Amino acid sequence: MNLSWQRREVHLRHPFNIARTQRDTVTSRQVLLASIEHRGVVGWGESAPSSYYGQSLESGEKVFEAAAGLLGSDPFAIVPVLERLWERFEAESAAIAAIDAALHDLVGKLLGVPVWKLLGLDPARTPLTSFTIGIDDLEVIERKVAEAAEYPLLKIKVGTPRDEQVLQAIRRGAPDKPLRVDANCGWTSANVMEMCRLMVRYGVEFVEQPTAPGDYQGLAEVRRAGITPLIADESCVGYRDVLACAPHFDGINIKLSKCGGIRRALQMIHTARSAGMKVMLGCMVETSVGIAAAAQLAPLADYIDLDGHLLLADDPFEGIGGQQGRITLNDRPGLGVIERRG
Ligand code: MG
Repeated sequence: MNLSWQRREVHLRHPFNIARTQRDTVTSRQVLLASIEHRGVVGWGESAPSSYYGQSLESGEKVFEAAAGLLGSDPFAIVPVLERLWERFEAESAAIAAIDAALHDLVGKLLGVPVWKLLGLDPARTPLTSFTIGIDDLEVIERKVAEAAEYPLLKIKVGTPRDEQVLQAIRRGAPDKPLRVDANCGWTSANVMEMCRLMVRYGVEFVEQPTAPGDYQGLAEVRRAGITPLIADESCVGYRDVLACAPHFDGINIKLSKCGGIRRALQMIHTARSAGMKVMLGCMVETSVGIAAAAQLAPLADYIDLDGHLLLADDPFEGIGGQQGRITLNDRPGLGVIERRG
């Protein structure tokens, strides 16, 4: 098997802000696209590295260099390849997720079967995806809500001193839509009860990562009072974090770039279920390749937030849908995505 990779810059339709990175508005981002070729068949994978988790394009490329040397000749031997990469690159979940996705895409294509089918899943169980509205000026937020009219579920980034005004702006444009919020660690135990009560007044369905990892005292009060379900994101990076989150959260948000791909995500889903937790699938800003890999698991999730490709102006791939919030698990073999022409 031959592994090659490229850096690809993709541009957002709108500049994007969240509570953790407010001084660092994102207008474009670079991802790594990996392709693994075997007898003329090519499998794709994507790495969307996160500096928050200590990853970079350069650190990901080191993983690819190593992976190129240990892929061997059997594309079906996915697990041994991934195990060897984990032994050497424990922190490089985004790059390992790309190898994991490319091997699954390749195997699906060699067998002529979509990955979701290999996993035994029912595509009709794919939940609707939310569409994310980032932190912005209130006029811009109102405009984004109007532009997001086709999406039935919105996920609102909060965690600033203006959260109530943000929710008011959202409700002016979308009075009845189901809303989820993500505070990205923007609140603390001192105000989380008050903030969660406020969110519920605006009809919010659940709250993602209200406080920083470890700041859990306030979360216990929110859950004891039954205010709103809480979902862990930054607190739940990899499979080892799932059980540690169980006493503090009602569910976890799994992202392939955080956890290291489809195999690890499956472990996390089963662990979460055994602990009675809800499962959400999320993403970074990434192309349809990365989104398609996560989407293969969507029938196992309660909630999905797989909109990274919908935020892009120049997604180089297509095939996974997302219009009106409907992610499509199609019948194409592998991950079901193809390169966009022109
Ligand atoms: Mg989040």
